[in-house]
Amino acid sequence: MNAEIMDGTAVAAATLDRIREDVEAFTTEFGRRPVLATVLVGDDPASHTYVRMKANRCKSVGMESRRIEIAATATTEEVVATISELSMDPDVDGILLQHPVPEHIDERAAFEAIHPAKDVDGVTRTSFAAMAFGEPTFHSATPGGIMALLDAYDIELTGKHAVVIGRSPILGKPVGMLLLQRDATVTYCHSRTKNLAEIVNTADIVVAAVGRAELIRGDWIKPGAVVIDAGYNVGNVGDVEYEAASGVASFITPVPGGVGPMTIATLIQQTATAARARQDAATGGRELVPEAELR
Ligand code: NAP
Repeated sequence: MNAEIMDGTAVAAATLDRIREDVEAFTTEFGRRPVLATVLVGDDPASHTYVRMKANRCKSVGMESRRIEIAATATTEEVVATISELSMDPDVDGILLQHPVPEHIDERAAFEAIHPAKDVDGVTRTSFAAMAFGEPTFHSATPGGIMALLDAYDIELTGKHAVVIGRSPILGKPVGMLLLQRDATVTYCHSRTKNLAEIVNTADIVVAAVGRAELIRGDWIKPGAVVIDAGYNVGNVGDVEYEAASGVASFITPVPGGVGPMTIATLIQQTATAARARQDAATGGRELVPEAELR
C-alpha cells in the first residue's frame, strides 16, 4: 500500500483563501483590520523564524501583525506586564506568545496574562477547560490544525482507535481530547509507556507528538492506519519513519508540509474569529468567549 499524502500546505492555503475573504468583509464593515500581536522573548533563531512566518501569513490575508520583542534577560513580571497591556489594548484582537520562553520565565504565568478573548493560540487555562468541556473556544493551534486536516481528508473518527504519543499541554493532551470528542477511542502514550510498539500497532489513527526523530518505526504501523506526524526534528525529520510508514499507512502527513502549515492556518483563523467576536461584543452582539468583556 502506498499512503495518500495529507497535503497540509494545500489545505492551509485553501483555508487562508477563505479567511482572506472574511477579513476583507470585516475590514469593509468595521473600517479596521484584525490585529495579531506576537510576543517573542529572547533570541532563539527558530522562534524568530516561526514568528516571522506567522506575521507573513497574517499580512497575506490582510490582517495586521504587531511584533513585540522582549530581551532574554527579562523577568517573569516584565513579560506578564507586557502581555497584560496587550490584553487591555482595544486595538489588539489576538495575542501569540511564542514558546518555549527562556527557562527562568514562568511560562504558565505568561500564558495566563493573555485575556481569554484574545487567546488565539489556545494556551490559557480558560481555553483548555472550555475545550475539555466541548464548548466553543479557541483550540490550541496544532491540535486544531490536526483536526482540520483530518476533516479535509474526510477521515472517519467515530469508533476508531486513536493512539496519541505525547501528552504535552499544548499538543498531545488536547489533540487526544478533541479526538475523544469526535467519538474516537483514545489511548495516550508517553515516555513511561511500556510496549509502545504493540500499542501503536493497534491504532487506526496514530498521532505522533514527541520530538524524537523517527521514534515511531514503519513496521509498528497497522496496515491502513492514518498517520499524523506533528514532530519536527533537526534535519526536517518527523517522529515517524516516513518512507517505511508510507508503505503501510492509508494516509500520512509529510514533514514538513503536513501539520506545520495547518497550525499557522488555525492561528490565523482564530484571530479572525477573535476580531469578529470582540467587534460583536462591542456592539452588543453574542460573544464566542464569555469573558470577552475587556477588563
Ligand atoms: P514536549 O512538551 O517535549 O512533549 C513531548 C512528549 O513526548 C512528552 O509527553 C513526553 O513524555 C513524550 N515522549 C518523550 N520521549 C518519549 C518516548 N521515548 N516515548 C514516548 N513518548 C515520549 O513536546 P511538544 O511541545 O508537545 O512537541 C512535540 C513535537 O511536536 C516536537 O517535535 C515539536 O517540535 C513538534 N511541534 C510541532 C508543531 C507544529 O506546528 N508542527 C507545534 C508544536 C510542536 P513525558 O510526558 O512522559 O515526558
